[in-house]
Amino acid sequence: MKIVKKCDICKSNVYVDQWGNGKCKNCGWYQNVDCLNFPKVANPPNFISLNKAKGRYKKGENFYPTFKEFINLVERGFDFTFKFENKNFQISVHDDITLWEIDTENYVVYKSLSEFKRTFSINNQLISTNWNKIKNLEYDC
Ligand SMILES: [Zn+2]
Repeated sequence: MKIVKKCDICKSNVYVDQWGNGKCKNCGWYQNVDCLNFPKVANPPNFISLNKAKGRYKKGENFYPTFKEFINLVERGFDFTFKFENKNFQISVHDDITLWEIDTENYVVYKSLSEFKRTFSINNQLISTNWNKIKNLEYDC
């Protein structure tokens, strides 16, 4: 059974499941109880906090994270997949941070978060200054 509620951000009608999860077709926000209960914290499947998303929605901005926001999520141990110049990558966070090129044997290991933050690069392009080239960012669960 589908339930309709008002989107926590834009107040459009949105279908959610029995746990309150569902993506708003209007603004793209994922309705999620954790995001609602902890409005100052970025929680999956969203990349930014509910409060930040409300502010961005008012300014007509999207909910994609900045490089700094992305680094904060990596620091909390979340794994990600994304595209860069049409190649697929995965970031896997343990004691170190591994960048894999999916379906290849190419990978780079960053020993610490600070090293990752400073030197994370693909094809000799520093990601901190090429963040807009990261596409299809998703949590990898
Ligand atoms: Zn919405």
